[in-house]
Amino acid sequence: MSVNSKQQMIDDIESEVAFTRRMTGRDHLSPAVMEAMREVPRDAFVPSAMKHAAFRNGPLPIGHGQTISQPYIVALMTDMLQLEPEDKVLEIGTGSGYQTAILSRLVRQVFSVEVVPELSRKAEEIFQKLGYENIHIRVGNGYEGWPEHAPYDAIIVTAAASHIPPALVDQLKPGGNLVIPVGEPYSYQRLVLVTKDQKGDVHSRDILGVAFVPLVDTDQPAG
Ligand code: SAH
Repeated sequence: MSVNSKQQMIDDIESEVAFTRRMTGRDHLSPAVMEAMREVPRDAFVPSAMKHAAFRNGPLPIGHGQTISQPYIVALMTDMLQLEPEDKVLEIGTGSGYQTAILSRLVRQVFSVEVVPELSRKAEEIFQKLGYENIHIRVGNGYEGWPEHAPYDAIIVTAAASHIPPALVDQLKPGGNLVIPVGEPYSYQRLVLVTKDQKGDVHSRDILGVAFVPLVDTDQPAG
């Protein structure tokens, strides 16, 4: 089988899920998440020079010093959100738009914030081409979330934050999940699952070590 095939990507995600099951507490991911991973064409979100590697289970450069995340991590983080079809989800770090697209197949509405205007524009073009209409994007500083559409059933951050942004916790519904890499830029980072219970109390749990580009805390575009 060709390395550049979507089936190979799915098989690689499944083996990595099995390999990390002790850390994540998951033997397999939900069938709905795996179906979304099969449906969304990752090659559409990868720059032309990288198309040959579009279905490799690894991150790839997308310009502006940013990357499209590894498919296994995209699938795992999506699974951790425990999404329902009627949900409204907030994503911080649109990047290539690939994670956004996966979310859009699973829930009613996705809101996504990106700090680099050009990445946001490129992602929007791809959503239009693919006919994904339930995605709303804006350029801004994700540390502040997107208060106008809060509260969200789930929130996902796809860049590493130095701390859990209080605005994001505020914008999460009781019963909701927030998945976020927390740690030092290009160094030790943990993927953290933050849950808000029905009383509004917040709990957090470390899932596994990850490597993300930093979540920049500024309104100035990076790169
Ligand atoms: N989910 C994306 C990940 C892209 S990398 C994908 O798979 O393609 C992380 C993204 O977060 C980058 O595009 C970066 O520009 C963006 N980012 C960094 N700091 C941010 C901030 N404060 N607010 C919003 N986006 C931010």
